[in-house]
Amino acid sequence: MGVIVESRSSSIVDELVAIAKTENVDYDILRRRVSSGRVAVVRNTRRAGVKPVAVGEGLSTKVNVNVGTSGTVVDLGMEIEKVRVAVKFGADTLMDLSTGGDLDEIRAKLLEVSEGIPFGTVPTYQAWIEGVRKYGGVGIPSDWFVAVVEKHLKDGVDFMTIHAGITRELAVKSVRSSRVAPIVSRGGSMLAVWMIENSEENPYLKHWDYLLELFGDHDAVVSLGDALRPGATADAHDELQIGELVNNSRLARDAVSKGVQVMIEGPGHMTLDRVVADVRLMKSLSGGVPYYVLGPLVTDIAVGYDHVASAIGAAVAAAAGADLICYLTPSEHLGLPGVEEVKEGLIAARIAAHAGDLVKLGRRAAYRDVEMSFRRALLDWEYQVSRSYDPERSFRLKTKFPQELSSCTMCGQYCVFLILSKYLNERSLKLEELLDRYGEGTTLVW
Ligand code: SF4
Repeated sequence: MGVIVESRSSSIVDELVAIAKTENVDYDILRRRVSSGRVAVVRNTRRAGVKPVAVGEGLSTKVNVNVGTSGTVVDLGMEIEKVRVAVKFGADTLMDLSTGGDLDEIRAKLLEVSEGIPFGTVPTYQAWIEGVRKYGGVGIPSDWFVAVVEKHLKDGVDFMTIHAGITRELAVKSVRSSRVAPIVSRGGSMLAVWMIENSEENPYLKHWDYLLELFGDHDAVVSLGDALRPGATADAHDELQIGELVNNSRLARDAVSKGVQVMIEGPGHMTLDRVVADVRLMKSLSGGVPYYVLGPLVTDIAVGYDHVASAIGAAVAAAAGADLICYLTPSEHLGLPGVEEVKEGLIAARIAAHAGDLVKLGRRAAYRDVEMSFRRALLDWEYQVSRSYDPERSFRLKTKFPQELSSCTMCGQYCVFLILSKYLNERSLKLEELLDRYGEGTTLVW
């Protein structure tokens, strides 16, 4: 086995066997990909009962849901409800992005209700918020940032956004740049100001080797943050974004060489024609570590519908090889999402992930589609409704207008499946044969 697998507890073998079975992949191939850093298994040795989630090459695309308080809206009850909805509607991982209230207490409570789903955080927020209070301004010592990471790992956080790729030089360039939106990452803006005001290098970069030791000890995953992701389509693939990606790729290769699991976070806003190139460039530079994408949002004007704009980009990114999609909600750019927006955003992202998987994994992902279409032609409403992303909503839509026919109210008696029913019922098609129409999975090449 390679470095990463050998450095873990013996239970990793059992976990990989289970993951290989769930994902329908060969165990030896999966093990090699974990060893080479192309697959990360997200969980932390400190937290019992977490169902490990594997993210990376050859595996189904996973979806992350962000929850958490803001500086102005602190409602722990609502955040708990968001976690419950995220679990109910199929989130693979959760992240607590809280910035308001008692951050330790909120994290502990959300960890408790996350029901064994891998749990991530962005420690920069707490380091900055509490550091400014503790030190009376931005003169926070660099090891404070590491102390907060250590605390989260001990609490059982499974993966963390570590903004190590934004150097002081890139921070200075970005605030003086002609970008439409110089920095749109909250953690990125905090670190940029800290580095510029204190004339110091990035604290995560300064303490990088120690951070790797910490993550290695907890078998947790470093998620290299994209502090300089483009926040406007006009800023995509500029010197700042690519400069940070090159830095993150070097750091990712270093982490893999030291047996620490890692992934890289990606854009951001970018037009559709850039998405495939973005994924392929990231994979090529980093040696193929998992890509965790936020969107991409393929237009800047979908205010109120940014979950749709990001799902379009995410589907293309997943088809091209992105591995973990961070959902966006309709509230993006407008306010803190409520419970209903979390549900809407999650379902949009899950559809995008699956659309990508139909290309990436081919027939391994296609069974649900083939069976859904098959049952649709048979007017099997119970199946269609019960297997939908939100059965309650589907039932409501199906029964909105009363009708006694076996078709739906869209066409009534002129339903194609009623008109053709005699011929449809004479067919003897088998689902397995229909599935063969899907080829082996591949990644989208533009
Ligand atoms: S009534 Fe029209 S929309 Fe409804 S199932 Fe039949 S063909 Fe499809």
